[in-house]
Amino acid sequence: MIYLDNAATTRVRTEAAQAAMNAMVEEFGNPSSLYPLGQSAKVRREASRASVAKALGCRSDELIFTSCGTEGDNWAVRAAADLGRRKGKHIITTAIEHSAVLEPCKALEREGYEVTCLPPEAGGTVSVQRLEEALRPDTILVSMMLVNNELGTVLPVREAAQAIRRAGAPALLHTDAVQGFLKLDFTVKDLGVDLLTISGHKIGAPKGIGALYIRNELRGKLKPLLLGGGQENGLRPGTEPTAQIAALGAACELGLAEREANMARMAALKEYAVDTLLRRVPELELVGNGTAPHILCLTLPGYKSEVLVRMLGGQGICISAGSACHRGKPSHVFAALPLSKAQRNGAFRVSFSHESSKAEVDALAGALAQARDTLFPSMS
Ligand code: PLP
Repeated sequence: MIYLDNAATTRVRTEAAQAAMNAMVEEFGNPSSLYPLGQSAKVRREASRASVAKALGCRSDELIFTSCGTEGDNWAVRAAADLGRRKGKHIITTAIEHSAVLEPCKALEREGYEVTCLPPEAGGTVSVQRLEEALRPDTILVSMMLVNNELGTVLPVREAAQAIRRAGAPALLHTDAVQGFLKLDFTVKDLGVDLLTISGHKIGAPKGIGALYIRNELRGKLKPLLLGGGQENGLRPGTEPTAQIAALGAACELGLAEREANMARMAALKEYAVDTLLRRVPELELVGNGTAPHILCLTLPGYKSEVLVRMLGGQGICISAGSACHRGKPSHVFAALPLSKAQRNGAFRVSFSHESSKAEVDALAGALAQARDTLFPSMS
C-alpha cells in the first residue's frame, strides 16, 4: 500500500502503540486512585503532558487533554465567546477553517453573536490587512488556523496576534494547529496565541486524543464543555484515557526530536512531487500556494477527483479528494477560492509523513497518468 493521505490520519508510531499497550495492560490504574497502581498511571499521565508541553513550548499546567481536535476547537470557540460576552459579541474567523471551528461559530451566530468570516486570498491564505479592517472594540475572539488542511497554506497567526494588540481589541486569539503541529517550527509563545488546538492522530498517536493549550492567565476563567468529576482541574471531566495520553506523549517526544529533519525531508519530497507529477501529467495544476511541507493540493481539471481517488485506491494508493471530513459535500475551502467548476471538481490532496518516499511519488505519478488515459483517453 502507498499511503499518501497523512493529513487525514497517520499510522500510529510503534513507540506510541507500545506506550498505549503498557498503559492498558500494565499501568492500567485509574489516575484518581490513591494506591500505587493509580498513582503510577497519574505519573505517566503527567509525563505525557510534559512531553506535549515541551513540543508546544508551554507549561504543563497550560494543557488540557481532549478527545480530539474537534473537541478542542469547539471548546476554545465556545469558552472564549462565553468569557468575552460582557465585552462584546463579535467573532472573527476565516472562510477556510475546519468545520470544527466554523460550526460552533455558526451556532454562536444563532445565539446572537456576530461572526465575520475573512475570505481567503487567491493563493489560499488570509491577509492580515483584512483582519485589521475587521477588528472592532467589541471583537472578543479571533480564530485562525495555522495550516489549512486541504491546501497546506500557512496562515499569518503570529501577525494576527500583533494586529489584535495594535488594535487594542479585547479579542482572544485561538489557532487550530491540528495540521501545523510538528510540521512547522513554532511555540505558543512565538505565535502569541491564547488558545491552541492539537490532535493526536495527525502526528502518529491514535485517534481519540488531543489537547487544548490554554494560556496561563486564562486558567480558572474558561468554562468546561462537559460537566462531571474533577479531572483535568475540573475543566475536562471524565476518567482520563491513559492509553491514548501515553501514546500522545510518546508521539510528541519522537516528533519533536525529529521535527527539523522531518520537515526538511517532507519539503524536499513535496518539491520532488510537484516536479514529477507535473512532468508526468502536464494537465495537472497546483491549487493554492501551500507552503506547509506535508500537504500538496492539485487539480486535474475535467476529471472528477472522487473517481480518481477511488481508482487509485483500487491500486492501493491512498490520496484524498479534498478533506476527508467533507465526504459527500462540496468543500467550502475550494468554494471560497477563485476556481472554475472543473478545477474544483478535479481537486485532490496528497499528504506526506516522515515515512513517505520518492518511490511512492513515482508510483502515484504513474497511476495518475494511467487514470488520465483510462478515464478520458481523448484528453491525453
Ligand atoms: N482541524 C483541522 C485543521 C483538521 O484537519 C482536523 C481533522 O482533519 C480537525 C480540526 C479535527 O480533528 P479531529 O479529527 O481530531 O477531530
